[in-house]
Amino acid sequence: MHQLTLAEIARGLADKKFSSEELTTVLLARIAQLDPQLNSFISLTEDLALTQAKAADARRANGENGALLGAPIAHKDLFCTQGIRTSCGSKMLDNFKAPYDATVVAKLAAAGAVTLGKTNMDEFAMGSANESSYYGAVKNPWNLEHVPGGSSGGSAAAVAARLLPAATGTDTGGSIRQPAALTNLTGLKPTYGRVSRWGMIAYASSLDQGGPLARTAEDCAILLQGMAGFDPNDSTSIDEPVPDYSASLNGSLQGLRIGVPKEYFSAGLDPRIADLVMASVEELKKLGAVIKEISLPNMQHAIPAYYVIAPAEASSNLSRFDGVRFGYRCEDPKNLEDLYKRSRGEGFGTEVQRRIMVGAYALSAGYYDAYYLKAQKIRRLIKNDFMAAFNEVDIILGPTTPNPAWKLGAKNSDPVAAYLEDVYTITANLAGLPGLSMPAGFVDGLPVGVQLLAPYFQEGRLLNVAHQYQLNTDWHTRTPTGF
Ligand code: GLN
Repeated sequence: MHQLTLAEIARGLADKKFSSEELTTVLLARIAQLDPQLNSFISLTEDLALTQAKAADARRANGENGALLGAPIAHKDLFCTQGIRTSCGSKMLDNFKAPYDATVVAKLAAAGAVTLGKTNMDEFAMGSANESSYYGAVKNPWNLEHVPGGSSGGSAAAVAARLLPAATGTDTGGSIRQPAALTNLTGLKPTYGRVSRWGMIAYASSLDQGGPLARTAEDCAILLQGMAGFDPNDSTSIDEPVPDYSASLNGSLQGLRIGVPKEYFSAGLDPRIADLVMASVEELKKLGAVIKEISLPNMQHAIPAYYVIAPAEASSNLSRFDGVRFGYRCEDPKNLEDLYKRSRGEGFGTEVQRRIMVGAYALSAGYYDAYYLKAQKIRRLIKNDFMAAFNEVDIILGPTTPNPAWKLGAKNSDPVAAYLEDVYTITANLAGLPGLSMPAGFVDGLPVGVQLLAPYFQEGRLLNVAHQYQLNTDWHTRTPTGF
């Protein structure tokens, strides 16, 4: 049963082959048995899951239907869940029970999805390896000595190991697409504003976006359908109708113009990944796509710009964690300043503290113009590059990551080495564009992802291309040994 996709589960439930309660029980037992190897969950919500599963079964018995009705999922532990710990992977929020549900959580619950638990993540979503979590590193099910990617590494490892069919993630600079690539999943970062950020603990507000992680594009369409839509509680959520994503999967790729940026194939890219990217291009050509070389001339400035803007916003967002209102408070503070200093010093981990310092520095009087403002100008140039490219092509294709999953600990002493892994993903966040990563092969037994980018609100086009690719390839069906 654990091999079923969301689409197959929906059919099985509709045909009464099994109940949501049966499926939920099987998956909870599987998590209990296998997750100790992976550490992909921070909290399990067994009681809630069984209650939701029984309610979904009752709704189905009353004639209701729906792709998510009774479907087991999990949430990255930065989506607020009422009455349930929402830790953000941090000691700071280890004791925080959210007083309300995030919009994404509420929408999926209303659609009948069953929440099995909250997944592990890099602390405050800062990272690409899921090693900065207060709850310990997550392991990659393809090789337990390697990282699963981050920051949505718990969601990715759990889905890749078939502990459940799909999970939510968030992507500020690649945190859905990168772990999807490193664990052989399909992951989609929607257009900025497509999915509500209400109740999603903020990292960098102008970049953060929630989205689905699943094995197939078909399943990402189902989960995105349940997540997307306007939310008056989020002033950056966009009031655009949500199309039927599942209906967009079967469009023909005949004449689809795919742009491959020449800047993507620079020295940093593992040549074996470059070969797999070109093999995916050949596959899409067979389906009727036309390939064009394009240029994104400002791409080289993306990492420095991102690593100014994201920490700047983080330093501001994380100022609310002061030991007074939320989460961790130090023992016996001597005075107010001591309370602030020690609560934050003890509650935040090293990477989070590093980012707060970088961000506060970039925003400080005298340096604001030189760093923050400059980074914002680069951001506009990057967006303009994409706008020019999308005048010529319908989709942009390239690698999701320059390397396959690295060994646990390999980049711990060199944060910049980890930042460089984000080179292909962060541009979509800076521009606010939707992006998808899909399985495209293996290097040394480790999965490799291909990234597709589309114009604003063209999530359906991304899912269409990925689904057609998946109908003609079987990379996405491979299962890690032992799971
Ligand atoms: N690796 C990037 C960072 O550390 C992206 C993280 C994310 O998308 N949440 O900031």
